[in-house]
Amino acid sequence: MIEARNLTKRYGDKTAVNDLSFTVEPGKVTGFLGPNGAGKSTTMRLLLGLDHPNGGDATIAGRHYQDLPEPLRVVGALLEARSIHTGRSAYNHVLCLAQTQGIGKKRVDEVIDLVGLRDVARKRAGGFSLGMSQRLGLAAALLGDPAVLILDEPVNGLDPEGIVWIRTLMKRLAGEGKTVFVSSHLMNEMAVTAEHLIVIGRGRLVADCSTEEFIERSTEQSVLVRSPDADRLAEIIALDGGKVTASGTEELRVVGMEAPRVGELAAAERVVLHELTPQRGSLEEAFMELTRETVEYGRPAIGATEHEPAHEPADEPAHEPVHEPVHKGAPGAQGGAR
Ligand code: ADP
Repeated sequence: MIEARNLTKRYGDKTAVNDLSFTVEPGKVTGFLGPNGAGKSTTMRLLLGLDHPNGGDATIAGRHYQDLPEPLRVVGALLEARSIHTGRSAYNHVLCLAQTQGIGKKRVDEVIDLVGLRDVARKRAGGFSLGMSQRLGLAAALLGDPAVLILDEPVNGLDPEGIVWIRTLMKRLAGEGKTVFVSSHLMNEMAVTAEHLIVIGRGRLVADCSTEEFIERSTEQSVLVRSPDADRLAEIIALDGGKVTASGTEELRVVGMEAPRVGELAAAERVVLHELTPQRGSLEEAFMELTRETVEYGRPAIGATEHEPAHEPADEPAHEPVHEPVHKGAPGAQGGAR
């Protein structure tokens, strides 16, 4: 299990990770989601002892990374796919790593096969595409058959087939009881990969809950209604408490009322319906809305100035999440949603 407690990391006057607390549990894929610049890579570096926090603590299997006697057997990480000795073959790259921790050649062959690099294993890794480098990085991460995997945007550079492959692999590894912590800036990708989500924006926790709950809570539900008597129906729905917007002469979009109730009202008032369809907003839109005010390199958040500091005192949040912070699930997970 991975645990971050009140992690804070500053680079000069920039706070990349801000009082971040969460727990990543074994047996499921946990998505670490946030816009670019949110602090995902920094958090992963802190977990792996590659950077030192200014505050808080990070442990893997209850220990600091640097205290693990054989780290590759406990945690496998893929942070920078390109950070390889470019002159070495893929096989030798993995072999070198194996030899640092007494892992045999048999396992090197196994992981090279597992990631589908057998045919190019003797080729210079420096000439690999990003997708192939990701596969090689994954081979290195899996080398010690660790119980914990930390993968930073592993689908970058993979073709559609590679994306499905890595998604299936991550789910299988989680199914074997491993802790799989994978970052992405793409909500749609995480929706089909992760069972649990930890969402951050500007270094702060925005949500920590199951993917199902995140989708349920984030996507606005509405009902599309088509009727030749749309104007009258709009009045009836509004009187019953629904919020109606007309999107065409015969078309209404209803929020705050379920489709059956719309149907009942129409029947009671003898209004003809041509269509009655429950709808759900796009997940990617919902994610962008949720993290909108925390996007670092996008259009400025409403009310934010360009030079606004990335962090505020904990009791004075200037970057309120647009929605209520979704925070539930992992036992031991802490607040700090803003
Ligand atoms: P993400 O992985 O979510 O895209 P990062 O963790 O890479 O986000 O970056 C978070 C913020 O910290 C960004 O503003 C980034 O520019 C800054 N940052 C990251 N690493 C460094 C560093 N070594 N020096 C200075 N700023 C950094």
